[in-house]
Amino acid sequence: MLNIVSRNLNQTPAFSIGFCCHMEVFAYLCSRCSGTGYGFNFNGSVMNIALVAHDGRKQELLSWVRYNQAILSKHTLYATGTTGRLIEEITIDNPEVPGTLTCPFKGKVTKLLSGPLGGDQQIGAMIAEGKIQMLIFFCDNLIVQGHQNDVSALTRLAALYNIAFATNRTTADMLLTSSLMDNPDYKVQIPDCIAKYANRDLQ
Ligand code: PGA
Repeated sequence: MLNIVSRNLNQTPAFSIGFCCHMEVFAYLCSRCSGTGYGFNFNGSVMNIALVAHDGRKQELLSWVRYNQAILSKHTLYATGTTGRLIEEITIDNPEVPGTLTCPFKGKVTKLLSGPLGGDQQIGAMIAEGKIQMLIFFCDNLIVQGHQNDVSALTRLAALYNIAFATNRTTADMLLTSSLMDNPDYKVQIPDCIAKYANRDLQ
């Protein structure tokens, strides 16, 4: 398993799966690794999870977050601006003071820019730098977004870097509860094509 300490973003990261965050380290790894069997373990560790929902699917994401509150609370959450604000506003019954409500995610989400204002690109950059291990992105598939190019770029990078990535609720539930998260033999592989592309022979 890789043992490279991550760089802080806006807060002390709970990101402890030992995967690199520095671009130069990542580039180094890409240049050295052949790919097969190479990568990082989840090992049941805290992950950096990015959450994004288009306006037409925000309520669905909020419902999903509420349903998975106990699991999500163990991880470090990032979100595009509006999605993050709404997650922080979620209320549940306060188990400590019956009859009152509490906001379990208040102050627990690193809110990036709103998606159309650059937030999608910020998350894409974090994926490329190895700072995000899971993306839950509830896209509105019934309309074309003004920032459709950013949406395409984000989904492309999530696929390219082989992170855990869901665009609907069922898959998101399955990702979050996968037994592979706790399996020390399971490695998330850095795809060969990244090192090959980074080292392509150009004169
Ligand atoms: P938002 O962005 O959370 O700021 O609304 C979502 C998106 O990418 O459209």
